[in-house]
Amino acid sequence: MKNCIKCGAEMQDDVQFCPACGAPQQAQEAPQQPYYAQPQQPYYAPQQPAQVKPFPVFGLIGMIAGIVAVITTWFLFYLGIAFSIVGIIFSAIGMAKRNENRMPGMAIAGLVCSIVAIVLTIVSIILAFAVVGAMMGA
Ligand SMILES: [Zn+2]
Repeated sequence: MKNCIKCGAEMQDDVQFCPACGAPQQAQEAPQQPYYAQPQQPYYAPQQPAQVKPFPVFGLIGMIAGIVAVITTWFLFYLGIAFSIVGIIFSAIGMAKRNENRMPGMAIAGLVCSIVAIVLTIVSIILAFAVVGAMMGA
């Protein structure tokens, strides 16, 4: 049981409005504001919030390597594999650092391009073996 904050009438704990005077009772309850944790600042973060975040170099290299890999894998699949691996490594580093840098999408794009390149490389190798196998069988 609790008492109305306005008129003092007794009422159930779960009622929203006083049955005697109709006053809303939310104010009496404990405030249910969610606790918002302060975002954890990395210890190496710059103290000036106005400072511009660095350009995502790793993400950019990863994206370029991924795009080059997608193109080269059709001609030289081993070059495609090499560029894909470079792209994945740089993109992964870029992903890890994407909160420190501008344009976090750059690393994601690099990772996607590199993974697409790896898949295309595998498909082209399978196709090459399939073609060779068909020629051998003929
Ligand atoms: Zn009341």
